[in-house]
Amino acid sequence: MHPDIKSKLPHVGTTVFTTMSALSVKYNSINLGQGFPDFGMNEELMELTNHAMRAGNNQYVHMCGLPALRERISEKVNNQYASSVNPDSDITITPGGTYAIYTALTTILQPGDEVILFEPAYDSYIPNIEVNGAVAVPIQLEFPAYNINWDKVREKINTKTKAIIINTPHNPTGTLMGEEDMEELSRIVDGTEIFIVSDEVYEHLIFDNKKHFSILHYPNLFNRSFVCFSFGKVYHCTGWKLGYCIAPEPLMREFRKIHQFNCFSCNAPVQFALSEFLKDERPYLSLGGFLQKKRDYFNELMKETPFVPLPSHGTYFQLFSYENISPKKEYEFAVELTEKAGVTTIPVAAFYKESVNNKVLRFCFAKKESTLEQAAERIINYTKALQ
Ligand code: PMP
Ligand code: GLN
Repeated sequence: MHPDIKSKLPHVGTTVFTTMSALSVKYNSINLGQGFPDFGMNEELMELTNHAMRAGNNQYVHMCGLPALRERISEKVNNQYASSVNPDSDITITPGGTYAIYTALTTILQPGDEVILFEPAYDSYIPNIEVNGAVAVPIQLEFPAYNINWDKVREKINTKTKAIIINTPHNPTGTLMGEEDMEELSRIVDGTEIFIVSDEVYEHLIFDNKKHFSILHYPNLFNRSFVCFSFGKVYHCTGWKLGYCIAPEPLMREFRKIHQFNCFSCNAPVQFALSEFLKDERPYLSLGGFLQKKRDYFNELMKETPFVPLPSHGTYFQLFSYENISPKKEYEFAVELTEKAGVTTIPVAAFYKESVNNKVLRFCFAKKESTLEQAAERIINYTKALQ
């Protein structure tokens, strides 16, 4: 007999990414669901990691992260976003972006606090809020453009509002927050005690000559923010689970109190390697162009299907509407596509707390051309057979 656990997350099951990836394995489908590249990562970065291990850099590094890596990150972001981030006091290396977001929320939340977030929302946000005894206040982005209605944000703010979570470029929609959004956000939080948790893991995955507006660029917003990043997205190594959080010193001081007794310090050789590799800006600056080609190639292939693309200007996700293909709900249709067409996607409904059905599925296009070709061919054949 086991003692009973009083669940901290009674309404939570297994994540949609795990569920759909398991289905993909079961039906041997092409997995365009969970977001990860199916092509190799940079050879030089692998070599640097190999070298770091052989050189003996295999013991704990500093609790806040390897100093040289934090130096490189501060140079990078200060250069890119005209910020003045201090490597000693404002940056902590974390085991991934998800952990950075969780730690930021755990640092600031008390039971009963409210956190505003925008749906569709990356699936970890609400459980991260609820596990801290706080209350998630989701606001739906306006379908189909998925823009933020700031009047709705104003309506939801009250004395219990502790934080607002933003995510740009946005998973799953591929939309971006613009300069006006940042200005609206500034006006709303100005003079309040509200924190911002900014999920910017897709900062470099941006297309069509668009610009990423980072919280780091706005000193009045950064003052109240935890800004979260992931190396997994930037260097095609999602399995490395390494990222970082940037916050002003008083906020980061508290963040580190949580971090030091949870993870303490992250994978050492990878940090040594990244502190070298980050000196070269080309790999991350060329990422947008590289992925834009994949997005365009996939969309071109999908033109032969009745799926209708919604605009995606960032991330490596593309939403498609199947409104004129099937009346089914998103999850059912995603399962049908896996089982019968042999292609796995993610139902966007999984990113909402309430039940919604806009008939849109998320496809990950960070794949080899041959994978995208095969997937499109399967979908073309399947949708033809349906007609
Ligand atoms: N935020 C969003 C929106 C994401 O899609 C991801 C990717 N899983 C993350 C954060 C964090 O990534 P990781 O923890 O793998 O670094
Ligand atoms: N970020 C990835 C996605 O949105 C998956 C992360 C995960 O599986 N938790 O697909």
